[in-house]
Order: sequence, then structure tokens, then C-alpha cells
Amino acid sequence: MTKIFETPLYPYERNADQDQTSPVRHPVVVIGAGPVGLAAAIDLAQQDMPVVVLDDNDRVSFGSRAICFAKRPLEILDRLGCGEPMVEKGVVWDTGKVFFGDRQIYEFNLLPEEGHKNPAFINLQQYHLEAFLVDRIRQLQAEGKPLDLRGKNKVDAIGQHDDHVTLEIDTPDGPYNLEAEWLIACDGANSPTRRMLGLDFVGQVFEDNFLIADTVMAADFPTERWFWFDPPFNRGQSALLHKQPDNVWRIDFQIGWDIDRDKELEEDNIKRRLHAMLGEDARFELEWTSIYTFQCRRMESFRHGRVLFAGDAAHQVSPFGARGANSGFQDTDNLVWKLKLVLEGKAPDSLLDTYNSERVAGAEENILNSTRSTEFITPKSETSRIFRDAVLDLAEHYDFARPMVNSGRLSVPCIYSDSTLNGPDTSELPADLCPGTPAVDAPIRDGWLLDRLGDRFQLLAIGVNADTDLESNGISIETLLLSPDESPEFSSRYLGKADQAVYLIRPDQHISARWTDYDRAAVLNALQTATGNKEV
Ligand SMILES: Cc1cc2nc3c(=O)[nH]c(=O)nc-3n(C[C@H](O)[C@H](O)[C@H](O)COP(=O)(O)OP(=O)(O)OC[C@H]3O[C@@H](n4cnc5c(N)ncnc54)[C@H](O)[C@@H]3O)c2cc1C
Repeated sequence: MTKIFETPLYPYERNADQDQTSPVRHPVVVIGAGPVGLAAAIDLAQQDMPVVVLDDNDRVSFGSRAICFAKRPLEILDRLGCGEPMVEKGVVWDTGKVFFGDRQIYEFNLLPEEGHKNPAFINLQQYHLEAFLVDRIRQLQAEGKPLDLRGKNKVDAIGQHDDHVTLEIDTPDGPYNLEAEWLIACDGANSPTRRMLGLDFVGQVFEDNFLIADTVMAADFPTERWFWFDPPFNRGQSALLHKQPDNVWRIDFQIGWDIDRDKELEEDNIKRRLHAMLGEDARFELEWTSIYTFQCRRMESFRHGRVLFAGDAAHQVSPFGARGANSGFQDTDNLVWKLKLVLEGKAPDSLLDTYNSERVAGAEENILNSTRSTEFITPKSETSRIFRDAVLDLAEHYDFARPMVNSGRLSVPCIYSDSTLNGPDTSELPADLCPGTPAVDAPIRDGWLLDRLGDRFQLLAIGVNADTDLESNGISIETLLLSPDESPEFSSRYLGKADQAVYLIRPDQHISARWTDYDRAAVLNALQTATGNKEV
């Protein structure tokens, strides 16, 4: 049977721009149809912003690569109209178990509280995730949304100008040129855009190798994340087990730095490792195998004139913690509404500098967490290893040691607490929802709160009256009048001990300001701040 990643899902088709005598200018061009580029394009198109996506390939990711998708990115994907089929197909999990040798030392639950539409995590092969994104693109195109996904369009050269970017593109029919008012570079870890503009990464390369064996087998392990330090079947190293849909299991062996890559990738060798772990009688097939090393690094700035970098092109982390694609979705979620306001002339171009400052802060947080996990999993000296093993021994018996065990701090939403876009706050409302935080989901009378938010500025007026005609600089605010009693989870998350509250929420569902009473002028003032229309 042909696998989905062997099928061209966006085959090359000649486009009208190739027959023009001078380059056609588009408002936004995205380079790269990986998860991040596809998400950016969907976000723009569903808000009627014309977008062209160029990819040198014509199919989804080869092999699974990313498998763990966290709650916040699932909420973003829900806003993009494709989260639900992903959760339906994915393996939902929230429990992780940590083993040291052959002993389980503890387990944890990533979403201990009720009242959220989305689970803490799903496991879904990256090729399935990308195929769902392409399905969504086809749906938007059928609705007449302005989105053009061009397979086998390889960007070969880029030129920066004051008010546009030029692109030279190679296709099976030969080269053509395009212009873009804004270029979003989502062309992955080896980003040709970065290279063509002479930009580089800052950060650390880790000297270790990990062997991935995506294994098809009918096993009855529970749907949990299992992580081993120093297991009997991979002494002195680590291992990871995760369930994916279609009976595919991600098994990941740490194999050290000094290895013979070709030998390690030989099928017999991989099967030998798997039998040592699963038992000599285990029956399985290999779906995808690979050896990866990783880096924790980022570009110094994600904005260079009219070129905006997102996803792996802008930052890279180790897979521990599942922060790669998950943070890429948070990049475009942050970028698209700002770009839309700038393109519509409703916000100054400097609003895009806050894409850089907010997402660089997010990338730094991810790099810090990823680096710490990596250092714990792969201690660099004998002393570090002795300390690490002592922590693992203690964690089996004492709660206090468990927070020190780091088998990958799993992706959590980024909080832009220092953003210049944040407006007033009040200590009378729950500290967990301060400005900069993404709005937390909760049941409301007719569904889920987050299903009602996004793509536009919104005012939650809870237990208090507010105007419904709020507008400034052509940017309107939609007012949602809510009762304090929508649900117990809603009132404890949004009100705490207060009787009423007013929250101003950005199109990416992050909170920009909040008060305990409604004041029209204060809300409009906060809108000016949140859209970069006010000097701070
Ligand atoms: C083993 C492994 C496990 C991982 N696990 C997870 C996980 O569980 N969770 C998670 O969130 N992340 C995980 N990641 C990271 C995740 O795979 C990446 O972060 C993600 O693919 C980044 O998406 P992207 O769209 O930025 O880049 P990519 O997926 O790399 O896409 C870049 C696209 O740009 C195109 N392109 C490149 N050059 C050009 C050009 N010149 N012209 C036109 N197009 C071009 C490419 O063809 C490609 O389609 C994992 C990675 C690995 C390797």
C-alpha cells in the first residue's frame, strides 16, 4: 500500500505568474509547506489575506519526525479549522512514566484538571498532521479563499528592497520571478532563505545520536509516554516509547556520539535492539528509521526587513519536550494577526518588531528547557552522571526529588509577560491569567470558551455590561457578554474571588489587558497599546 508520505499531495501545476512578462507582486509569500508554513497560509487565507506558498517538494514529511502535539498548538489548530480531525485520529495521552534501570521511579499527569476541550497531548505522525493541514487548504480553496499552494517551486534567490522582496523560483517548467510585500520564511532547519540572506544561528550543538525506530506492532503497552534512564536493554543510555495511530510505536534509543551511522541503521542491528527491549518473540515491522542529532539555537532576530522567519528556520531545539513544531505554530499564531493589521494599514510596521521580541522570548524559554533536558539525559561528565543517578534514586522514594528529574519538560504555552503590547492588569483577578498569557479554555453555557475566541480582538465582559460598538483605527473589538456562572471552571479561572471582570483578548487568544470594571476609554487605550498604535 502506498504511504501517504509517498503520494504527491500538492503536485506541480503551471501557474499564471509563470506566463507574465514582469514579476507579479503578492502581498504575502510563504516559503516552505512544512507544518509551520502550512499553518501560516491557512491563518492568512481564512482571514481573506491572499497568500502564495512555495515548496521545493510536493508531498508531506517523509517519515513521522514530530509525533507529540501539545494542548496550546491544538487550540491554535482548532482556530485554523483542523484541530478536531487531528485529535480524532491522534492517540490522546496525558500520563508519563519514568524508569531508572528496570524500576519505575514515578509517573506524572500533564493535565490533572477537567474542563478543557483539548487534551494535554496527542501523538500523531507529522505526515498525518501535514496531510490534515493540506486538507484544510483544499477546503479553503473550495470556499474561494485566496490561497495558492505551489509544489515543486524551489526558491533559488532572494533580494531585499525597501518595500518588497524579490524571489527567483525554479520549477519543472524552468525559472520564473515573483515579488512579495512580505515574505515568511518557513523553510526549515537548513533554511536556504537564512543562507541566501547571509544570516546565521547562535547556540549549542549537542554531541549525541539517537536512533528512531518507528515500529508497527500489535502491542498492549498503555497509551503513555515511557522514558527510561539506563535501561537493561540499552545500558548507560536512555530510551523512549510512545504510541502513534495505526499501531505504530515510536521507539527512540540514545546511542552515543562515536558511532558508525551506516552500521547502526542496518535493519538487523535495529531489530537486535528492538528484540532486546521487546523480547525475542516480539513480532514487528519497521515503518521508518533514522538517526538524529540536534542543536539548541536560534537566529538573533526573527525579522530582517520584509522577511519574517518562523518555525525551524528561526529556532531549533532537541526533540525532548516536543517543542519544535509546537513552538512553530505559536510563531505563526503570533505573526499573522500583526501582519494582517500592517497590510491593512491599521497598525504601524513596528508592530512586526513585537513578533520578533515576543517569539524570541518564546524561543529562549524553549532553548533553556531543551538544553536542561538534554544535559540531564546525556550528562557530560562522570560527576554529572553520579549526581543525575542520585536524583533518580531519590525520586523513586521522595516527592521533593521528582521536579529535578528531567526527561524532557514538555511543551507548555509561552507567556509574553514583558511584552510592550500588554496593557493594565489588576491583582484582584487570578494571577494565572495575567496579560501576556494565552486565554485558558473553560466550558461555557453553549460550548467551549476558546471556540468563541480568535481572529479578532475580543472583550470578555463577565458579570458586567460593556459596549458592543468598540472600535479604534478601524480595528473593532467584538464584545462577549458572559455570566459569572458559565461553569465552575470558568468562574474559578477568570474571576477567582472577584464578582466581575473585563478581559481584552488579542486575535491570537493572548490576554492583553484586564480590569474588574468596564471603562470604554481604558479598553480603547489598551487596544491602541496592543496594536502598536500608541507610543510606550
Ligand atoms: C526525530 C524528530 C522528532 C521530533 N519530534 C517532535 C515532536 O514530537 N513535537 C514537535 O513539536 N516537534 C518535533 N520535532 C521537530 C519538528 O519536526 C520540526 O520542528 C518541524 O518539522 C518544523 O516545521 P517547519 O515547517 O518549520 O519546517 P520543515 O518541516 O522542515 O519544513 C520546511 C519546508 O521548507 C521546504 N523548503 C526548504 N527549502 C526550500 C526552498 N529553497 N524552496 C521552497 N521550499 C523549501 C521543505 O521542502 C519543507 O517542506 C521532531 C523532529 C525530529 C527530527
